Amino acid sequence: MNPRRVFMLRVVAAGGVLAAGQARAAHVEESDETAAALGYKHDTKLVDAAKYPNHTAEQSCSHCQFWQGAAGDAWAGCAMFGRKQVAAGGWCSAFKKV
Ligand code: SF4
Repeated sequence: MNPRRVFMLRVVAAGGVLAAGQARAAHVEESDETAAALGYKHDTKLVDAAKYPNHTAEQSCSHCQFWQGAAGDAWAGCAMFGRKQVAAGGWCSAFKKV
């Protein structure tokens, strides 16, 4: 194969890997429709206690059954938010203790 063609294929392949990495790193915004509906906060300490009386500060994404991260991950996927990631110290009203 022509060296220029090989180079171009590598550039395209590298771009695809970079795009996939960026897609995985997308974080949920508190203002996103689903996040707002579930009362999601990046910091569990900032959850509205009046609106969510069953919430406690010990509840956080990294202690939830829907958390898809490993120990020590700052952000990871969550079954409630599709491809976007939630914060380890976050919380939403779908919280389910591990
Ligand atoms: S379902 Fe669990 S892991 Fe997902 S955002 Fe809510 S508390 Fe966090």
